[in-house]
Amino acid sequence: MQSLWTDEEASQYTDDLGLRVFTSRLLGRNPELVLHGGGNTSVKIDEKDFFGEPVSLCYVKGSGWDLATIERQGFAPVRMSALLKMAELAGMSDSDMVREQRAAMTKPDAPAPSIEAILHAILPFKYVDHSHANAIAALTCSKDGEARVKECFGKRVIIVPYVMPGFILAKTVYDVIKGRDLKAEGIDGMVLLKHGLFTFADDARTSYEKHIELVTLAEQYLAKRAAAGAAGVAAKTDLLALARLRKAVSQKRGFPQIARLNHSPEAVAYAGLGDATVRGPLTPDHSIRTKRIPAMIGDDISASVADYAESYAAYFARNESGQQMLDPAPRFAVWKDHGIVSFGDTVKDANIVADIAGATAATVALGEAAGGWEPLPEKDIFEIEYWELEQAKLKKGPARKVHQGKVALVTGCAAGIGFAIAESLAEQGAQVIGLDIDKEIPEIMRRIGAVGFVVNLTEDQAVTDAIEFTVREFGGIDIVVSNAGIFPKNEYLDAMTQSDWDRTLLINLTSHQKLMNKVIPYVKEGLEPSIIFVGSRNFKAPGPGAAAYSCSKAALTQLCRVASLELAPYKVRVNIVHPDAVFDTKLWTPEALQRSADRYGMTVEEYKTKNLMKVEIKSKDIGNMVAAMASPLFLKVTGAQIPVDGGNDRVI
Ligand SMILES: [Zn+2]
Repeated sequence: MQSLWTDEEASQYTDDLGLRVFTSRLLGRNPELVLHGGGNTSVKIDEKDFFGEPVSLCYVKGSGWDLATIERQGFAPVRMSALLKMAELAGMSDSDMVREQRAAMTKPDAPAPSIEAILHAILPFKYVDHSHANAIAALTCSKDGEARVKECFGKRVIIVPYVMPGFILAKTVYDVIKGRDLKAEGIDGMVLLKHGLFTFADDARTSYEKHIELVTLAEQYLAKRAAAGAAGVAAKTDLLALARLRKAVSQKRGFPQIARLNHSPEAVAYAGLGDATVRGPLTPDHSIRTKRIPAMIGDDISASVADYAESYAAYFARNESGQQMLDPAPRFAVWKDHGIVSFGDTVKDANIVADIAGATAATVALGEAAGGWEPLPEKDIFEIEYWELEQAKLKKGPARKVHQGKVALVTGCAAGIGFAIAESLAEQGAQVIGLDIDKEIPEIMRRIGAVGFVVNLTEDQAVTDAIEFTVREFGGIDIVVSNAGIFPKNEYLDAMTQSDWDRTLLINLTSHQKLMNKVIPYVKEGLEPSIIFVGSRNFKAPGPGAAAYSCSKAALTQLCRVASLELAPYKVRVNIVHPDAVFDTKLWTPEALQRSADRYGMTVEEYKTKNLMKVEIKSKDIGNMVAAMASPLFLKVTGAQIPVDGGNDRVI
């Protein structure tokens, strides 16, 4: 492992706290050291308080901050006198500790100090760095962890047996170091078995670089013992089974989950370890995100998920002391021959779990190669998973959105109604995959937090590729909005070009049939699955010169009705929305609007609102209607045709 310190970057930080920010970020930049909010750091600084009185402070990482991106205000200034006094107490509850730490801050608006603040304070060095390095987990998660640490580091480190982080850990360390002179003894750090590493020094660079040095020694120790390993394990991919797995896990969780499949050789190798599910987390902190163990998926997917839920309930019953049980769904699954599947409310959440699961797989492999892996007893992990203070961290997120965790495929969404539909679904929490022939679609979708895929919907292979991409990346498909369409130029039947007719039918009808042919198997495995076609007011109120368009939309309506009959047994809803023309798209220039209004002898305003309610229909009205039709509001509606046209006497 390389030190990321450069004098050039360091020169931007001149004071003690600035350098603390700098080296904390260096730790945070390395995912082999800390992942997603893990680890903590501190610096001790003597200052004058508001009244000019001298005060010794421990600036310790505030909770909610990530080391990779921490700022000065991410550190909480806590009075050393209070922290040292707390360390002398025989006992203290964690909630009392959190309250007293807050009360001892000189800035009441600073974030809550890390629960390791007391531990940072009692270490007699200016800078203290703490990580959950993978290599330390690989070294210490075994029966002979302590012996390995001694062999690797000699007398350079203090070894602390596993105890619960927080007051008990601080107290344990306090007793170990009491009366000792760590500087004279040449102690560089402290290994917490099955938890992580501390290093310390009186300057920022030395404390950080000792951290890198000790982790590098652990990596070298492990590498020496690592066998060649089972490289090149080929992964199987069964996307329908992946969709089933996602559905089973989402049902146990109580709401839709995004699923991320990792089929790297390391992931497949990990899934191949017969007893992977007993190789708990690398550091107990991870259990908050991943639970203690993953689900083990065999041939019968729903039975495997049900087994996990049952054994989770039993684990809770064995260990609980009055807590409320969390949902019994796994946060990740090891799937024999396929790899690791991670779950989350959003892609971001699922990726956090995937990062931790991936690190676990790689690290367990290292530990195994070094002679064995032994996780913490379940009781210790339970205490972290159900720790009131840790649970509070996860409750900070916003309330769930209507389509949170759902995967929505929308066609023809580079502009107009299709774009508005994609935007409404994304705003309401869905992971949207937008398909369009427009080369700009990836960039257009990126702007609304969606994924764009360039597809010619009339080509079979391209459609298959787009659907498989969606399932591979997100685990399934719940919502399909079949919208792609063209409006050909006005032509009366006796003057119509055959190719215009053919092309309109190909895009407005046949491409939808192709999409259904390929997507329905996945939608049947979706969550509250819904298919929505975008029809047109022209179906019931056609106009002269629009035969190709009106006929294609009429046939599309019939396709929707047949699909609703075929899919009802699978609880897949199939409905169609019939919008009136919308004028807020780039197709309608002011000149074009004026021309059309003139043709009807109307003003532009009259033309835009020529319906019974005299309201203009906007793209967003259709977007919001489609999002509603895909929501649980329409859970028991299928085969319906919903007009969004302000009322039309020919339709009514
Ligand atoms: Zn820790």
